[in-house]
Amino acid sequence: MILSDVSDKYADVNDGMGPRWFDDLEISAQIVSIDGVGGVLANAGPTYYRTAELIPFAGQMNFDSADAQRLYDADVTNGTNKWYDTVLHEMIHVLGFGTMWKLQGLIANYGTAQAPDYRYTGTLGNQAYATEFPALYAADTQSGLGVPVESDTGSAGTDGGHWDEVTFDTELMTGFIDTTNSVSAMTLASLADLGYDVSYTLSSPPCFCAGTLIDTVDGAVPVEDLRSGCLIPTADHGIQTLRFVLMTRISSENGPIDPKHYPIRFRTGAFGLARQTQDLWVSPQHRMAVTAPNMMQMIGQNTVLIAAKDLLDLQKVQRRVPKHDILYFHLVFDHHVLIRAHGVWSESMYLQSQPPACAFVHGQSARTLVRKLRKAQKQQPFDMNNPTNFTQQTAQTA
Ligand SMILES: [Zn+2]
Repeated sequence: MILSDVSDKYADVNDGMGPRWFDDLEISAQIVSIDGVGGVLANAGPTYYRTAELIPFAGQMNFDSADAQRLYDADVTNGTNKWYDTVLHEMIHVLGFGTMWKLQGLIANYGTAQAPDYRYTGTLGNQAYATEFPALYAADTQSGLGVPVESDTGSAGTDGGHWDEVTFDTELMTGFIDTTNSVSAMTLASLADLGYDVSYTLSSPPCFCAGTLIDTVDGAVPVEDLRSGCLIPTADHGIQTLRFVLMTRISSENGPIDPKHYPIRFRTGAFGLARQTQDLWVSPQHRMAVTAPNMMQMIGQNTVLIAAKDLLDLQKVQRRVPKHDILYFHLVFDHHVLIRAHGVWSESMYLQSQPPACAFVHGQSARTLVRKLRKAQKQQPFDMNNPTNFTQQTAQTA
């Protein structure tokens, strides 16, 4: 969800632990008595924030003792996610959702103090409102004022700090938890408005499947066993320190998995003469390094990055129906780099703030190029993943 570090903060938060460094955000959680069964399930917010950026570095979540066990037990019995969703909802409040809006000037009241009519005014959140919820946006005669924010529950903890329940219903950051809840791009965009570096691609992220062996300085290591701090050779930036590993689970628990998440398998030989050691499984969005002897003449680049889903026209590349949950792992470095798995070079997780390791080619132009490469490959096999070409590229663009 959030990709980059925020600044470290040295502070004493009066919790008896003395002054210390806060790397990003420290959240304390406790179970307390709030209002008995039902009603308020939890509350949360920042306790201290960075005064320059207005981004929290410490916060507190309180869960109602009369509800916590009940929610958890119901989830275990019914297979719902209400407890998990409640915790995530509160964590997003600690990040500043609803709780830092006033301070950051991201909310306006078009009503009165007694009868408020709140709208969220952040630029990115409003763009997401228009693009992600076009029907709601079109039907909203006041859309120019901002995103509808909860205004009429009469509860100070709910009004002015959540998306409007009537409008957005099952969105996670409305004031009411539903049986199923989803995090919208609009919520992520609102975090970007607060100043976080946000990923919008959680629903279909570029990454490696569990079990993939990633080359490290200590040999090949399963991606799920990698930890931040691992040293990993790259094709374009020497040896790099792995900063963090993120995991996305695509679950089949609540119905069949959407085909757009199906993993893509590159069988040995998919990249022609490239030295692939065994089948490689990645997510559809994961970009592979692609080269050809005459690539420069074809498109003015020695190497391009093409998403796995755009490489399906190659021989030995297939979308596979998963038999169980899919675990996707994302590897984040200081740079967007090319790393090697099963002998094949492909990208690390790309952050908007990083220059891309190679030019991206996608959609129709990617598929046209891929068909040409496939034809060329049939006439005279070549290495479609040749690191010699990547180095030429780096030398040219450095
Ligand atoms: Zn809330």
